[in-house]
Amino acid sequence: MSDSQVVVVGGGVAGLTAARHLAADGFDVTLFERNEDVGGRVRSRRGDGYIFDRGFQVLFTAYPAARRELDFGALDLRAFSAGATICRGDQRSVLADPLREPGALTQTLFNAEISTMDKLRTLRLRADLRAKSVEEIFAEPDATIEQHLYTYGFSERYVERFVRPFYGGITLDRDLDTSKRVFEFTFKMLSEGKTVVPAGGMGELSDQLADRAITQDARIVTETPVEGIAPGDAAVDVQIPGETVDADAVVVAADPKSSRDLTGVDAIPTDGRGCVTQYFAVPSGHPLANSDRIHLNAGGEVPTTVAPLSGVAPEYAPDDRALVAATTVGHEDAGDDVRIESDGDLETQTRDILSAWYPAASLGDFELLRTDRLPFAQFAQPPGVHEGLPDARAPDGAVYLAGDYTHDASINGALESGRAAADAVSEDLQ
Ligand SMILES: Cc1cc2nc3c(=O)[nH]c(=O)nc-3n(C[C@H](O)[C@H](O)[C@H](O)COP(=O)(O)OP(=O)(O)OC[C@H]3O[C@@H](n4cnc5c(N)ncnc54)[C@H](O)[C@@H]3O)c2cc1C
Repeated sequence: MSDSQVVVVGGGVAGLTAARHLAADGFDVTLFERNEDVGGRVRSRRGDGYIFDRGFQVLFTAYPAARRELDFGALDLRAFSAGATICRGDQRSVLADPLREPGALTQTLFNAEISTMDKLRTLRLRADLRAKSVEEIFAEPDATIEQHLYTYGFSERYVERFVRPFYGGITLDRDLDTSKRVFEFTFKMLSEGKTVVPAGGMGELSDQLADRAITQDARIVTETPVEGIAPGDAAVDVQIPGETVDADAVVVAADPKSSRDLTGVDAIPTDGRGCVTQYFAVPSGHPLANSDRIHLNAGGEVPTTVAPLSGVAPEYAPDDRALVAATTVGHEDAGDDVRIESDGDLETQTRDILSAWYPAASLGDFELLRTDRLPFAQFAQPPGVHEGLPDARAPDGAVYLAGDYTHDASINGALESGRAAADAVSEDLQ
């Protein structure tokens, strides 16, 4: 046990994980979060019987750190069906993983969007990635996702009709210029576990991490921005509004831009990838209301993906309505040249797309409920980025970094980083 004081800056997934482990290691932990609630990029809001995550996002149950840090049972997880429904014009076809979902084998085999050779390559890729560890994936030579797929032998048709909307939606990069490691890691996670949301919304994940930290006696102080940190010889001064707090160590787990401002560590990546998620109510009789598979727009860019959330987790919508999330990749504030239209234009395009995909179904009282514009959903991950990311001990003095930006841009990366920062502090202070 130690009575050393540790301050954690930021109550996102990384900061909450760090606080929990530090408190469990016996430190006196105070976490300052500038917002009124914790969770950072993983939060949910409730309204009129709906649950709105802060932008459409999912958890992969195969994430190694999620398996360690979260209690899946208590999260009451709801799973999407594996694979995706590929939509173009009025054509819809299912591409599932036939090894995990034998019931979808026929649909997948007869999916005319994807050639037999590409289906076989997908199975080979799956086997190759099963044999590799996550560490091996991130240690291998890098390339863009697009380069890697062509080197692997996939056809242009496969890339255009499946990978661009699907992995473009995950990496928020339809150009597929992102590191192939992110593709391989995500592909492995998708094929080795389930894609889920907690019944009570993605924010439950952060709430569980906060509860676990509080159970270990960490203090969580919201609506308190840390304005500066000054490492000295023996302690670190932490400035909060109207007060300076002394700490033996500080873990900076803010978003990348704020972490860089607070610590001056230039290796923290600050280029971002963004998206816009619009939430729509659709009539409960619409086919999307009963679907549990992500729909990919293989015929255009707006929206990139459509997720039938209440078809997967009925708790996301009131009984007589269904909740659908339509996400368009790109954001003008992130420097993307994609033109992101007004809320009304996006709504019109989504309505048109859904009418084209399901021409026989009435959109009836289809209604835009909410638009989330997220200019910085993830830090950009071009090839080679991972070896340049800072590690927990990068700042001077007793200041440590946690945050997805020390690992990879995902919930898993954030969870891993929180644990790594806590371990570094424990090792150095005890
Ligand atoms: C729309 C969207 C979709 C996504 N989809 C997925 C997905 O499907 N799967 C996946 O794995 N990942 C996804 N991600 C990425 C994932 O959410 C992030 O990688 C992860 O949540 C980052 O957590 P973090 O704790 O590192 O940072 P953050 O969540 O950014 O937390 C940082 C916290 O620090 C606080 N803070 C900042 N400055 C200060 C300060 N000075 N003082 C006090 N507090 C401060 C912030 O308010 C925030 O709460 C998505 C993200 C978004 C936004």
